[in-house]
Amino acid sequence: MIQQLRPQIIQPAMKKACPILDSLLRAGFSAYFVGGAVRDTLLGKHIHDIDIATSAQPEQVLELFLHCIPTGLQHGTVTVVQDDETYEVTTYRADAEYTDFRRPSEVVFVDELEQDLQRRDFTMNAMAIDINWKLYDPYGGQTDLHNGVLSTVGKSEERFQEDALRMLRALRFSLTYHLRMTDECQQAIWKHGRLLRHIAMERVANELSRMLQGAACADVVSQLQQSKLLSFTKEQLYIAQYQPVASLIKLDKFKQQGDASTIAESVHWSLLFLAFGMSSEQAASDLKALRLSNQLHDEVCTYLKLTEWLQANSEHTLNEALKQQWLNMLLVYPLQLLNAWLNHFQWYSPLVSELHQYHGSLAIYSLKELAVSGKHILKWCNKPAGAWVKELLHHLFIAVAAGKLPNSTDYMKEYILTRNEGDGSNEQP
Ligand code: ATP
Ligand code: MG
Repeated sequence: MIQQLRPQIIQPAMKKACPILDSLLRAGFSAYFVGGAVRDTLLGKHIHDIDIATSAQPEQVLELFLHCIPTGLQHGTVTVVQDDETYEVTTYRADAEYTDFRRPSEVVFVDELEQDLQRRDFTMNAMAIDINWKLYDPYGGQTDLHNGVLSTVGKSEERFQEDALRMLRALRFSLTYHLRMTDECQQAIWKHGRLLRHIAMERVANELSRMLQGAACADVVSQLQQSKLLSFTKEQLYIAQYQPVASLIKLDKFKQQGDASTIAESVHWSLLFLAFGMSSEQAASDLKALRLSNQLHDEVCTYLKLTEWLQANSEHTLNEALKQQWLNMLLVYPLQLLNAWLNHFQWYSPLVSELHQYHGSLAIYSLKELAVSGKHILKWCNKPAGAWVKELLHHLFIAVAAGKLPNSTDYMKEYILTRNEGDGSNEQP
């Protein structure tokens, strides 16, 4: 079906990309906007990246544009850089036979747009827009979007057997675009879920991450649980062995607190693991299996450890022992992370607001702020370096932070020397 779109619905980012189509057309090739940018244009959603499909072969694209990156030549993709923007320009292709449930055994370049659209996963992702804003929609993507339905191009079973990642993509799109999967699509996922074992863990992680960032945590949790897809990953995940436990309403309250797009990725993952009642150690193992970055891993572990601590003490008021534990935590975990989590978790337990108040009353928040360093200590004590320096610094930090010792170099020097003379390791300030 071909339909003329109103120019008003075309976003500036797509208009800005027109010179690329124009160059390709002038060189005698055909070229169209395709994929997510077309879908999001029809939905009036902000478009973030622009994909172009063309009859030009990759080498011809490389010749035509000054600044190109040969991103994936074997798949026909060249990234064209123009006016500080990047555009993925891909030669029309049909995927030849799939042999291993994840990628075609070979890619065949074809002449026609329609064949290229046919290899795409869902009808809403299989539309194209040309330079005159004509929409090409051979599989009824627009109608599906209008009816709030997610359907595959062609038979779901076949499409998922070709590339098992499409099952996770189906979950992601249905969650983030609030679409109902067709029964056929749903049943194909139940039937072929185990094919997910052929998919690299990084790709699974990427889909999960995008799901978490685009949908309510409670919805992601229930979809993951219903589809059981995560029990079939290449490497086993703890999350697949758990049932949701935490109050999901509580978790979504968390997300509603701020602008969802500003919530850090680590917060999304932490909430997911909390929803399944997993320990920080189990979460750490899953994050490693999913090949997520060390930074993400460390952040999530900090959040979960802090939550475990809050949960374990939820019946208590903030007594001296808990204050001491908090100061110890400041020594181990980055302050920024602890604070961010506390800010989000105001509602979580009464302890959080007490802790917040206490935290606000501290004199210093990290070793860096301490007016004494390891070098000072070694100079004053005239003893060989060792673990004792770190212990002493931690001791000083806790005393200064809690206001029991002034943060003054002279005062602390005197304190350390007196302590040293009497070897007063048991002395408390
Ligand atoms: P997003 O807005 O999340 O980037 P997108 O639709 O642009 O969504 P991409 O992963 O960027 O998703 O892929 C671009 C297009 O390539 C898709 O719209 C779809 O047409 C096609 N595509 C991507 N992955 C697959 C796949 N596994 N199988 C079939 N077609 C795919
Ligand atoms: Mg995209």
